Amino acid sequence: MQIGLIEQEARETNADVVRLSAEVKEFEDGLEAINGELAEIENMKLSLEGELAECTERVKKNEERLKNIKNDKEFKASTKEINAAKKGKLTKEGEINKLNEKISEKKGAVKEGEDKLNNKKAELEAKESSIETNNENWEKKIKEKKEEKASISKDVSPSLLKKYETIREKRQGIAIISVVGGTCQGCHMNIPPQAYIQLQKGSSDLIFCPHCHRILYWNSIAKAQEQGKGQPA
Ligand SMILES: [Zn+2]
Repeated sequence: MQIGLIEQEARETNADVVRLSAEVKEFEDGLEAINGELAEIENMKLSLEGELAECTERVKKNEERLKNIKNDKEFKASTKEINAAKKGKLTKEGEINKLNEKISEKKGAVKEGEDKLNNKKAELEAKESSIETNNENWEKKIKEKKEEKASISKDVSPSLLKKYETIREKRQGIAIISVVGGTCQGCHMNIPPQAYIQLQKGSSDLIFCPHCHRILYWNSIAKAQEQGKGQPA
């Protein structure tokens, strides 16, 4: 079980790295999209600014023309041009202001996106470095536990060992389980009273749970604690 727990911890940490990497990628894509939108708006602004400059130029040109006006027809034409160009200027300025608002909104979103991305990257880096540190530790612990298991296994008959491994495989890695107050803690079913008495007496024969088939032992401490709390199982 201890080996399984260490292996599980290593697996889960590695899964965290995969998950965090995917999240970093997601945030990067999101940021790229916002930056793309921002560039598009800035381009629109640039072309509007060009149009605005044209309007300004038209106003200026026609105001110059007004100084050397020769007849009423020319005066009317220039005045009309100036008015149209001024109206155009106002429209362009209004549009540019709206784009400026959008640009500052997008820049805010970019900043937010960058912060989120940086936090996520930091989280990923921390996880990756913890794996590096832990890997050695996990391997060492697993090796120790496997040696411990091998040395204990030496004194157990091969047939019993085989049975133990079979139960472990079928029962989520737990082959030996305690009985508290007559209840198997693996499947939470009551065991027959006779078997329970035998367990409490310390039978030399192994006793198996009739429901989940795990090897049972009596947990007298848990029972005492429960009675202490006044909550018998
Ligand atoms: Zn059971």
